[in-house]
Amino acid sequence: MIPAHATPAWIGLGANLGERAAALRAALAAIAALPGTRVLRVSSLYRSAPVGAGGPDYLNAVAEIATTLAPQALLEGLQAIEQAAGRERPYRNAPRTLDLDILLFGDAPIETPTLTAPHPRLHERAFVLLPLAEIAPQHVAAEALQAVAWQHIERLDAAW
Ligand code: ATP
Ligand code: CA
Ligand code: CA
Repeated sequence: MIPAHATPAWIGLGANLGERAAALRAALAAIAALPGTRVLRVSSLYRSAPVGAGGPDYLNAVAEIATTLAPQALLEGLQAIEQAAGRERPYRNAPRTLDLDILLFGDAPIETPTLTAPHPRLHERAFVLLPLAEIAPQHVAAEALQAVAWQHIERLDAAW
């Protein structure tokens, strides 16, 4: 049961170190286990080249959730899941075992010192826009997809 006061949100998942698909699967299970949170829909897996740094290719996906958590509590829950997956932050855009970003949270924009939603770089990134468009086309304009069409990204046929 999803309570009527749950908020719809979309989470971007990414990993480019270690067992990437396994890390994303474990992350989805951990997100579903957050208090008051359901995973409603999950995109295909995508493979993308790293942006702004070297390292192995990323696996990416987007998940739609409904949650009764407040935005900051959701962020902290996602960060705890990243930590449990061994996430380190040696420098900006460093390779990572797991990255969980809040792409969209409800309808109203959020701007706090720790959280900006919609995610400020959402529209720059094919690895976010393509999986988001797959499960939430109402949130992705065709022009936005065209603007990132030059970026290298591949939708994988492989099942989760
Ligand atoms: P990017 O934000 O460009 O995707 P990143 O994911 O590598 O970069 P992180 O090191 O994971 O960046 O996060 C840095 C900080 O971003 C976090 O400590 C968090 O407080 C803040 N932040 C702001 N808005 C968001 C959001 N929508 N989702 C996740 N983190 C956010
Ligand atoms: Ca990110
Ligand atoms: Ca992040």
